[in-house]
Amino acid sequence: MNLAITPESEDAAALAARVRDFVTKVCIPREDAWRATGKAVSDDLRWELIGEARAQGLYGLHLPLEFGGRDIDHRSRAQVFEAAGYSLLGPMALHCAAPDEGNQHLLNLVAEGEHREAYLKPLCEGHRSCFMMTEPGGAGADPGLLKTVAVPDGDDYLISGRKWYITGALGARFAIIMARDGAAEDAPPSMFLTSMDTPGIEIVGEMDVMAHDSAGGHCVVHLNRVRVHRSQILGEPGQALRYAQVRLAPARLTHCMRWLGAAERCHDIARSHAARRRVFGARLGEHQGVGFQLADNEIDLYVSRQAIAHACGLLDAGAKGRHESSMVKVFVSEAASRVVDRSLQILGGLGVTGYTPVEHIYRSIRAFRIYDGPSETHRWAISRRALPAEDSALPALTD
Ligand SMILES: Cc1cc2nc3c(=O)[nH]c(=O)nc-3n(C[C@H](O)[C@H](O)[C@H](O)COP(=O)(O)OP(=O)(O)OC[C@H]3O[C@@H](n4cnc5c(N)ncnc54)[C@H](O)[C@@H]3O)c2cc1C
Repeated sequence: MNLAITPESEDAAALAARVRDFVTKVCIPREDAWRATGKAVSDDLRWELIGEARAQGLYGLHLPLEFGGRDIDHRSRAQVFEAAGYSLLGPMALHCAAPDEGNQHLLNLVAEGEHREAYLKPLCEGHRSCFMMTEPGGAGADPGLLKTVAVPDGDDYLISGRKWYITGALGARFAIIMARDGAAEDAPPSMFLTSMDTPGIEIVGEMDVMAHDSAGGHCVVHLNRVRVHRSQILGEPGQALRYAQVRLAPARLTHCMRWLGAAERCHDIARSHAARRRVFGARLGEHQGVGFQLADNEIDLYVSRQAIAHACGLLDAGAKGRHESSMVKVFVSEAASRVVDRSLQILGGLGVTGYTPVEHIYRSIRAFRIYDGPSETHRWAISRRALPAEDSALPALTD
């Protein structure tokens, strides 16, 4: 049975409206208690939210039909994930939070046979996963610096290395580990799928990040001669960098969608405050300095939404959209950050307190300009495409 969105079935806007209503009634009321813990979202809370989303037919809308999802297209995801992002708990309920959503996408495209059953199926059922690329002193903005190595040992590999910033490692059912395939310095990396119970995987600790907005924390993980069978390589050996791109292009956009929702939430809180609070004989929003900040928020939100929708349209039409998703990621991560910053400013002292979620979102959104490629590496790649060769056909202005 094809449950994908069609003109005859519920359309994306209606679905997004239902998600927004769910977030308002189910997720937002649970935020204060969660934020008061100062910790990552617990799995108890996550499963509770997933149960509520399932009951309302909103769970896993983006997941493959084969595992009970509705496989909505990228443009529909843009609306639905933005609606989910209105609360930081929304993506947990729909199971479209990072890193699981990116891993679901990657496995759906690359995993075959046994791997789909053993890894993608439980992931679609609501279990969690993690993605291990970044290393102390190794892979980060430059994945080519990967130091973790998978040394062949008969039909097995022994994986050794250090990883950090591994989102969701605590409580994850399995990991996708990026490691050089062989001891040679220039050995191309592979992706290895392995259960987090595998001997040798040691979660050394949770990192003290600016804000907790995920389940399972951001962890330091040591890999001590982790034995995996060669059949645990995801897809083809030596293709990890290519698969990382397959994962990243849409994952960047889905991050944009969720953060757009969070920025919109901050803007709504600021608008509401600016409409009621009176200073110097007028409502806050009637002072041009505040009114213009609201206007700039509207502009950033609108342009971000259009940019995401356009890039999603390219993906839906079958394009890889890497260059476009890179530009959109830079723009939206910075525009959404501006919106959150202005909203906080409009709230005055209230903005830095826990009376509203704005301060939490302000701390959380900062990392988005760093993960999925820091703004600078995207600009660097975009600039290389923009700069013509010296002997290009463009007219030389000085001739
Ligand atoms: C909250 C959070 C969650 C994360 N989750 C995960 C995860 O689940 N799994 C995982 O593997 N990793 C994860 N990461 C890691 C993330 O992918 C890296 O932080 C990111 O790739 C940058 O790498 P780095 O921190 O090593 O910075 P570096 O590579 O050391 O770069 C530092 C800075 O240098 C600048 N820079 C780098 N290259 C260039 C260039 N070419 N031109 C100009 N400037 C440049 C940028 O400003 C960059 O921020 C997460 C990070 C954070 C903050």
